[in-house]
Amino acid sequence: MARLHIDQVSKIYTGTQRAVDTVSIDVDDGEFLVLVGPSGCGKSTLLRMIAGLEAITEGAITIGERVVNDLDPAERDIAMVFQNYALYPHMKVYDNMAYGLRNRGIARDEIDRRVREAATTLELGPLLERKPRELSGGQRQRVAMGRAIVRNPAAFLFDEPLSNLDAALRVEMRLEIAKLHRRLDATMVYVTHDQVEAMTLADKIVVLQAGRIEQVGAPIDLYMRPANLFVAQFIGSPKMNVADCQPAEGGLAFANGQAMSLPGADAAARKIGIRPEHITLAPPEESDVTGVIDVIEQLGSDTFVYVEVDKVGLFTVRLVGHVEMTEGEPAGLRFDRDHIHLFGADDRALAP
Ligand code: ADP
Repeated sequence: MARLHIDQVSKIYTGTQRAVDTVSIDVDDGEFLVLVGPSGCGKSTLLRMIAGLEAITEGAITIGERVVNDLDPAERDIAMVFQNYALYPHMKVYDNMAYGLRNRGIARDEIDRRVREAATTLELGPLLERKPRELSGGQRQRVAMGRAIVRNPAAFLFDEPLSNLDAALRVEMRLEIAKLHRRLDATMVYVTHDQVEAMTLADKIVVLQAGRIEQVGAPIDLYMRPANLFVAQFIGSPKMNVADCQPAEGGLAFANGQAMSLPGADAAARKIGIRPEHITLAPPEESDVTGVIDVIEQLGSDTFVYVEVDKVGLFTVRLVGHVEMTEGEPAGLRFDRDHIHLFGADDRALAP
């Protein structure tokens, strides 16, 4: 396994627009890095540049000790797992996994050992004689991973590997990938637009927007201390509530004239952020803002209450378990002072 060093890398497809703009990232040996961001933010382009499927316009990528900018994909010692599996339909599972090794002239015994070991790891043993069309989506994705594992690469690259699977299977395969990472202790770079996948799989997340890095950090750091409004609202589900505010005596004032105490709040604060799980429903004298219950969603495990606060906006409140509520009733909202996020006029996070 190997370290990966991405140094000031940019990609220009045409004209002057940078699909990836001066991105630098270090991935430690054995680290699971997730590149996450909305569609078009440049995450696949970056992964493809690491893989050698896309030329690097500027900067350098180092895998292990080698700068790989000018190396072919096959010379980079990486294995890529795609969302569409890319299996050979006419070959059995065994041969799909063995194919790349045979091409490299590896001895038959060694190939057999590696394929059977990977099949055991991925619980594909009973399926080795089947063709891809005789497999479920999850099994096919496991074969695609097996094909990567047998190569024993310096790093694994995953390009949205779970996006073709249904919701239940996605959760199952997410666990499989987490276990695989633990077992192999391998360097992995994983692209997804799904922040839940990012949160659950990553040692380190890189949040991208419009080709640029918004923030790098451990999942829980991004959740607890987002550097700006974009990350604050991208990480976490349901997303963070955000409302305009102004500094006021001893706290903050909202557009509807209500004020909340927050001694020492930064005078530069122009927006307040609070996650749905950090709001409680409170009697009027204890609330920070009051509104009207617009919609209630009962999930069984949680109750999501959407409260419309006139002139301020819609707030999502997450209550644990099943809570009986009535739409159209007034509701007071109390914000947990330990979990307040403040943002300046430039959307950067301030100390609360
Ligand atoms: P993501 O994977 O985050 O959805 P991409 O890396 O695919 O984003 O794309 C980043 C940007 O580069 C987008 O604006 C996209 O339209 C553009 N882009 C991607 N591939 C090409 C290409 N082959 N030619 C021109 N522009 C491209």
